[in-house]
Amino acid sequence: AKESGRNRYSFFTADMQQFHTRNLLLENALRRAIDRNQLSLVYQPQYSLVDQQLFGFEALLRWHHDDFGQVSPAEFIPLAERSGLIVAIGEWVIITALQQLAQWHNSGYRQLNMAINLSSIQFRQENLQQFVYNAIEFSGVPANCVELEITESAMAEQPEKAIALITGLRASGLNIAIDDFGTGYSSLSYLKRFALTKLKIDQSFVRDLLKNSQDKAIVRAIINMAANLGLKTIAEGVETEQQRDLLIQLGCDEIQGYYYSKPLPAGQASEFIQQQLQ
Ligand code: C2E
Ligand code: CA
Ligand code: CA
Ligand code: CA
Repeated sequence: AKESGRNRYSFFTADMQQFHTRNLLLENALRRAIDRNQLSLVYQPQYSLVDQQLFGFEALLRWHHDDFGQVSPAEFIPLAERSGLIVAIGEWVIITALQQLAQWHNSGYRQLNMAINLSSIQFRQENLQQFVYNAIEFSGVPANCVELEITESAMAEQPEKAIALITGLRASGLNIAIDDFGTGYSSLSYLKRFALTKLKIDQSFVRDLLKNSQDKAIVRAIINMAANLGLKTIAEGVETEQQRDLLIQLGCDEIQGYYYSKPLPAGQASEFIQQQLQ
């Protein structure tokens, strides 16, 4: 028994070692990713359910490395956060997404919005507000066409600072959405203390919406609560017509998911806009 116990332990450490080594290699590679033009953004369409219109996109980060290939953001974002690289990467994301939005606006599609993900680490940066202002000014797009997606944990860490930051961003016209809503551990009291714009219903509630009555009850409750608080709702991870129809029935405002489109590289997103909005 002792023997097999030790074996199990050595297997375990070998796995851990491999994991650790890959992380170190990835982190080092990530350090050079911006300069080597390995990062890109893809854009996933967002639709309004009232009029079935394309109204904007969420910018999602992609990293292609020569040796590692395509690395998932689920793997490299946590690494970027732990190493602090997320600040520089996040700034690159903001600049690039706003540049793209400006290009679409300049082509005549001024109704389009851009949603940009913010890590809680970025959210803690003293100069975030100034950086966002400057980037918006530089791009020339109206601030109210820009939405920042933050998670519940970003608000829970330092609530007083977070309130001040969100109030400031909102005062300049920006929109703030809570990403992955319902999956965090923070209390609902922040919903009245923060000047938010939108709740983004997490895809874990959408996935089994038709089969699971508990998920349906949760989604219904989120939508009703948001409506009563004057907040919009967007559901993410919508893959089927049935999910969409049920979300319309429940009173959801907006939708994003493979049902409409996967996230698209800039060129394809531009073609998509031309098809959808002529
Ligand atoms: P998220 O912000 O919750 O983004 C939604 C994820 O769901 C994206 O995965 C998207 O591609 C995927 N998705 C969209 N529609 C569907 C669908 O219909 N079905 C399914 N199964 N999935 C769908 P992705 O692009 O791999 O990003 C994963 C996470 O990485 C994001 O989750 C976000 O937390 C993070 N991330 C991505 N880009 C950025 C970024 O620029 N900055 C930061 N801080 N985080 C980012
Ligand atoms: Ca998001
Ligand atoms: Ca999300
Ligand atoms: Ca998520």
